[in-house]
Amino acid sequence: MARDAGDPLAELRQEFHLPKGLIYLDGNSLGPLSHGVRETLSRVIAEEWGEELIRAWDSRDWIDLPRRAGEKIAPLLGAAPGQVLVADSTSVNLFKVLAAALGLAGDRRVILSEERSFPSDLYIAQGLSRLLGRGYREERVPAPRLVDALSSEVAVLSISHVDYRNGALHDMRALTAAARKAGVLVAWDLSHSAGVVPMELDSWGVDFAVGCGYKFLNGGPGAPAFVYVAERHQRRARQPLAGWLGHADPFAFSSDYRPAPGVERFACGTPAILSLAALDRALDLYRGLSVEALRNKSLALSTFFLELAAERCGPLGLRAACPLGESRRGSQVVFRHQAARAVSEALRRRGVIGDCRPPDILRFGLAPMYLGFADVWDAVDSLVEILTSSDWRSAQPDSRVP
Ligand SMILES: *Cc1c(COP(=O)(O)O)cnc(C)c1O
Repeated sequence: MARDAGDPLAELRQEFHLPKGLIYLDGNSLGPLSHGVRETLSRVIAEEWGEELIRAWDSRDWIDLPRRAGEKIAPLLGAAPGQVLVADSTSVNLFKVLAAALGLAGDRRVILSEERSFPSDLYIAQGLSRLLGRGYREERVPAPRLVDALSSEVAVLSISHVDYRNGALHDMRALTAAARKAGVLVAWDLSHSAGVVPMELDSWGVDFAVGCGYKFLNGGPGAPAFVYVAERHQRRARQPLAGWLGHADPFAFSSDYRPAPGVERFACGTPAILSLAALDRALDLYRGLSVEALRNKSLALSTFFLELAAERCGPLGLRAACPLGESRRGSQVVFRHQAARAVSEALRRRGVIGDCRPPDILRFGLAPMYLGFADVWDAVDSLVEILTSSDWRSAQPDSRVP
């Protein structure tokens, strides 16, 4: 289609293994395999693990891989070097940064969250405050009340950049500024925005951030996550999962914990090298690309999707449920339909993979690296066919995949 011909990022699609006949609109849950990652994994398995065995920690510098991969993520976040580490999962990293933030916050004892946050983020805040006791607690408010809720009791605001359900994008700059003004630290979850939404963590004064490696960063299933700790906090911020690899000198095997001076203190135990090698290679796809260019394409795709769907599926009962204004939208489009799960299943049977969040949300991730306008056109075509036939009434709602 003509718009694909004029797309400066169109060639990137060739870097990915996209199964034939499939339109993959779920890269916000699990990014696809790239040829580079497949090759790297085979090589790391055969040559590094296979031949080098334990020596590879030195000879292939496995030990430094969490930091090297972190440095590849930093530019996507507007972060200077030395502040991003790849480690553990997003949930675990959130636990670490919230605990570190509480440790920096004096008498303030409240973790403030947005009530619609991703459940794991809420559970982590809950679990941490329960563990600490002594008046530590979590509070939740609706998004529009966040700024008013930044009281002198709040230690840290824990918030997602993009609402995973409706795709709404928070104004990171304004919310961070409001938090700072109120003496509140802020921990952003960038799981749905890293790599697709431009941001300036350093210049906006963000304190902490975490995010997934397996969504738009395409690091593979269960890829390790990342953690950002602003340089100004690194010497004082202490995280409680004081494992040996966060030690200043892990191979001294000292009996006493002494945290590494930099962001490395947010490491805990041995990294999953195979997953980390996959993520590290996937991040090379960002080399030479600007997040602004990816954002422009993502918005062009989502606006195209929303316009087509309004015109062709609106009369069939599909309603947009994500922000229509581009500056308020993440990299996904969201719709409401009374039989969302059945429609989503019918789409999958036709090779269009999106996902559904019960009871009535249909969600389509628009990854600008490998999707084109023709994919959007074909996906909407399938939606029209399903909604005009009785397909969705007969679909078996059996998928429990997250
Ligand atoms: C995907 C996602 C997570 C997932 O966390 P894991 O620890 O990797 O399971 C956490 N938070 C948000 C906001 C997410 O979108």
